[in-house]
Amino acid sequence: MILFVDQTGALGGAELSLLDLSSEFRAESRVLLFKDGPFRERLEEAGVEVSVCDSSMDSVRRSAGIFSAGVALGALVNPVREVLRLSEASGVVYPNTQKAAFVSFLAAALSGRSTVWHLRDIITSPHFSSFNRRLIVYMANSYCVHVIANSQATLDAFREAGGRCNASVVYNGLKEEKFEAGREESSVWRARLGLPDATTVGIFGRLAEWKGQLQFVEALAECDGLRGLIVGEALFDGDDAYAEQVKNRVSELGVEDRVSFLGFRDDVPQVMAACDAIVHASTDPEPFGRVIVEAMLSRRPIVATRGGGATELVGEHNERGILVDGGDVAQLRDAMKMVSERSETRDRIVADGLEFARGNCSLEETVRKVRDILEVYGDITEIENEILASS
Ligand code: UDP
Repeated sequence: MILFVDQTGALGGAELSLLDLSSEFRAESRVLLFKDGPFRERLEEAGVEVSVCDSSMDSVRRSAGIFSAGVALGALVNPVREVLRLSEASGVVYPNTQKAAFVSFLAAALSGRSTVWHLRDIITSPHFSSFNRRLIVYMANSYCVHVIANSQATLDAFREAGGRCNASVVYNGLKEEKFEAGREESSVWRARLGLPDATTVGIFGRLAEWKGQLQFVEALAECDGLRGLIVGEALFDGDDAYAEQVKNRVSELGVEDRVSFLGFRDDVPQVMAACDAIVHASTDPEPFGRVIVEAMLSRRPIVATRGGGATELVGEHNERGILVDGGDVAQLRDAMKMVSERSETRDRIVADGLEFARGNCSLEETVRKVRDILEVYGDITEIENEILASS
């Protein structure tokens, strides 16, 4: 039995990855969330057992220092207790986010449960205070039996920060059949979705400063006639102000008629299919970058910013996508112009991207690798019905 643990009820990339993974393990797992939200609903729809233990851990930021850590201690009691209770039936506790990992490591310190951490963040990035970094790495070295890193870049950062426990790289897996819409022309999907028929580039993901929607809008303003779709919404604390800033910038630049904010969409494959190219504009290294693989499976060319998992997925510049430097609006503009026009290079990038995504990022393969790792640490097929029934 596996107890997956995640800190949020929102649908970020980490949660969508866990949704796919836990659905494949649904007969032998359950998920514990520290916050309710649409993620719980999606898990339930997929037939995954879910428990929610609301906690005030949300108030503690990853970039925070020792004072906030003190405040957080009180908020930890309920989640730790819940992990201990639910993991009585589990061979393995499997935290999927930072705060979930911290709680799970504390539970492991008290109970000795095998804890496998799915690490989906580059922990040396500016998003983590040095205190938080040292604390989580110390806890992992002490109480984690295995780290599953979502890219080599994520694993390298963990090692650089002093992480010593066993670790493997397992790329996120996606189901290719979800992206069948991309076989059809973009104009067909624009008509179906009621979008204006013009050459279109899209940026997909939550609105957050480091995700680069602002740079996307500025680059788009310099590409005459090109339409832009901004797909996603602010999901986490503090990101609403940024979302407002992006909207204001669209007005200041006078490109309201060329930019559409579609909000959070459940039909990403269809919206990607309506685009002629996809942009990933993160200004800091992306740990993995699901949207890059999604663009490849949708048969659309990807422009991505260098660094982290994005470089691993795209390869060299012009190999399976166009690489630009994070934050460089002029490079982004030129790349957007290049990929929105048909050319041999564009077609080759799309073909090679599709082949790479199929060969390296299939859900089936990800599940197999995760299963192999978990089976080393516990009997994940064993279910203690008594515990499940009492929860
Ligand atoms: N996404 C979505 N609806 C939206 C915008 C984004 O379902 O409106 C999905 C997107 O398809 C991708 C995920 O959110 O699967 C974002 O994952 P990524 O790894 O790119 O970024 P993260 O959120 O992990 O930083």
